[in-house]
Amino acid sequence: MSLTVVGSIAFDSVRTPFGERERMLGGSAVHFALAATMFSEVHVVGPVGDDFGEEHLDLLRERGVDVADVERVPGGETFFWAGHYEHDLNVAHTDDTQLNVFGEFEPKLSDASRSADTLFLGNIQPELQRRVRAACDRTSLAALDSMNLWIATARESLVAAIGEVDCVMLNDAEIRELTGEANLARGARAVMGLGPRIVVAKRGEYGAALFTEHGFFALPGLLIEDVRDPTGAGDSFAGGFLGYLDREGAGADAGLPSLRRAMAYGTVLASFNVEDFGTERILRLSPDEVEARLAELEALTRISAS
Ligand code: AMP
Repeated sequence: MSLTVVGSIAFDSVRTPFGERERMLGGSAVHFALAATMFSEVHVVGPVGDDFGEEHLDLLRERGVDVADVERVPGGETFFWAGHYEHDLNVAHTDDTQLNVFGEFEPKLSDASRSADTLFLGNIQPELQRRVRAACDRTSLAALDSMNLWIATARESLVAAIGEVDCVMLNDAEIRELTGEANLARGARAVMGLGPRIVVAKRGEYGAALFTEHGFFALPGLLIEDVRDPTGAGDSFAGGFLGYLDREGAGADAGLPSLRRAMAYGTVLASFNVEDFGTERILRLSPDEVEARLAELEALTRISAS
C-alpha cells in the first residue's frame, strides 16, 4: 500500500506565546508526510526553490519519505508562510503568505506517485489539487484539506475539488465558513452533499468529529500540558488518519470501526505535533511512543463502568 500527498512544502516563521522560529521546515505536505510515514510508504509531490537545501530533503528521506517528485525550480523561491498564535492556540493568525514556486507549478507525477492507493490533497490552491486528483486515477481513497484563504478566494474551484474526493478534512470554523451553516453537524452534512462520503471536522485542542452516511463519532483531544506550537497539527492528524487507513488497505468504503481507529491515530499524531515547534517533535517520534499514547487515549475514552 502507498500514499501520495500534494500540498505546500514551505518555510514557516512562527511565533507563539512559548517562543518563535524563523524559516523552519514546514508546509502541509511536509507535516502530513512525516506523520503518515510512521504507517506506510509516502510520496511527496510539490515544488521548492533554490533556497531549499538538500539538508531539508534529507530530513524527509531519513524518515523514509520518497521525495523523487519534489521538483526544484531553478531561480525560484520556496513557499513561505508567517503566522502567530495568541493565548488561544486554536486560532492561527496569518501574517504573510508567499506562494512563490507554487504560482506556476505544473505537477508531473512519477508512476509510483500516480498509482498510490491513498491520496491526500493537502492545503494548496484547489486547481492544483484537482490536477493531482485527476492524475491519480488508481486511488481508492482520496482526501482533501483546505483553509479560509481558498474558501474566500477560490470557492468555485474548491467546491469542484471537494466533489472529486471521498473524504474532506477541515477545521470546524472552515466547515461553517464554506457551508454557511452555524451548526457543525448540519455543515458536515452540507459538505457530504457536495460529494464526499466522509467528513472529518478538526476542532483544535477539543479533538475531532467524524461524519459518515453510517453515523458519526467524536474523540476529545489529548490534554497535553506542554503545548508549544500547533502549526501542522491538522496535517499530522490527517497523516495519522490516512496513514493508518492506507496500511490497513481500507478504501473509500472503510467501515466505522476502521474509521474510529483512524481517528484515534490522527489524534495521537496531532498530540505529538503540538509538543514542539514545526516538525521538531514528529522528526524524533518513535512507533513505540505512538502505540503508548494510543493506549492512553483508549483508556481515556473507555466509559463502561466495568
Ligand atoms: P495546519 O495543519 O493547518 O496547522 O497547517 C500548517 C501549515 O500550512 C504550515 O506549515 C504552512 O506552511 C501551511 N500553510 C499556511 N497557509 C497556507 C496556504 N495558503 N496554502 C498552503 N499551505 C499553507
